Amino acid sequence: ISVWEKLTEAPEDAILGVTVAYNKDPNPVKLNLGVGAYRTDEGKPLVLEVVRQAEARLVADRSRYKEYLPIVGLAAFNKLSKELAFGADHPAVVANRITTVQGLSGTGSLRVGAEFMGQHYHTPIIYVPVPTWGNHNKIFPKAGLKVQSYRYYDPATRGLNFTGMMEDLKAAPDGAIILLHVCAHNPTGVDPLPEQWDAIRQLIRAKGQFPFFDSAYQGFASGDLDADAYALRSFAADGGELALAQSYAKNMGLYGERVGALSMVCATAAAAKLVEGQLKLVIRPMYSSPPLHGAAIVATVLSEEKLLHDWKAELKGMADRIIEMRHKLYDALLQRGTPGDWTHILKQIGMFTFTGLTKPQVDFMREKYHVYMTGDGRISMAGLSTATVPHLVNAIDDAVR
Ligand code: PLP
Repeated sequence: ISVWEKLTEAPEDAILGVTVAYNKDPNPVKLNLGVGAYRTDEGKPLVLEVVRQAEARLVADRSRYKEYLPIVGLAAFNKLSKELAFGADHPAVVANRITTVQGLSGTGSLRVGAEFMGQHYHTPIIYVPVPTWGNHNKIFPKAGLKVQSYRYYDPATRGLNFTGMMEDLKAAPDGAIILLHVCAHNPTGVDPLPEQWDAIRQLIRAKGQFPFFDSAYQGFASGDLDADAYALRSFAADGGELALAQSYAKNMGLYGERVGALSMVCATAAAAKLVEGQLKLVIRPMYSSPPLHGAAIVATVLSEEKLLHDWKAELKGMADRIIEMRHKLYDALLQRGTPGDWTHILKQIGMFTFTGLTKPQVDFMREKYHVYMTGDGRISMAGLSTATVPHLVNAIDDAVR
């Protein structure tokens, strides 16, 4: 008899569970649009060419060791990540007001940031958009933060509920933490416009609230790293403080390498130093220090002009293929005469389309067509290819009629 006999059976993760179910499906027509991982138009995972080059160089260099990194990670990686997010000449960067530590991809960086906020921030309440990436609702309570929500997505327009969002932020307590997706909001693909961001920023600053940015898709929205950082950079430029969790999973295709960073933008360089000291106290008993390999790849790519240039081209290629899939899917639905307004497929941004398909429709498509997506009707456009669009259109058309 086991001491664990009385455990309840854990439910499958809402997003990763889709792949578990997909893998068990023996039908060859099956299509996985659940997980947010890029696929080529041949439906294959992609290792970026610049990553292969950086890796080859690292492996060939006999002067490199596998020694432990410091608690905060690889110094060059941290510096370059900060500059990638904020811009090398950003006033907050130049003034040394930002401390950046390496994290275990986006999730680990969010977790360390949350833990720090839970221990040291005066108002341990965080507001997240409805809907948001499901893991947000699990990460923050683990750090002792109370999770509340603000309106974000409007099902009627399949766009942003800007009025509702502003009302809810206004009604949220002064000093509350506000979680914001930097770009390519997951799962909705709906982002505020620059002028809406400016109004959001002014409101958050007026209420002394603390913005906590999640950047999992820089470069993936528009194909341009700087354009995608607009919201983040404007918040950092107004002199106020904020947190940022960055992930290289999608934009450098380093999913399993777990490469990310947590940056804390502080009002002064002295505060940034104090924050870094406390972050070390969070990290050391959690995992001691982060992994070396992925961070070294990123640092190599970002530090060399040629590799950086080629990465931007590859990133743009991924973003463009996703946008092309939006057009192919939209055109095919139109041609088929599938009932409903599908313009949101074109308007939404980044890796996902929030289709508006209901749970029963999602289940129907899985049963009859072996098309897998999350229960909320989110499909990964990156998982779609020219060859699989017709099958998806058949499934959607049948589901909505
Ligand atoms: N934040 C958002 C909004 C995401 O969509 C994801 C990944 O899907 C992450 C964070 C974190 O991903 P990872 O931990 O793989 O970097």
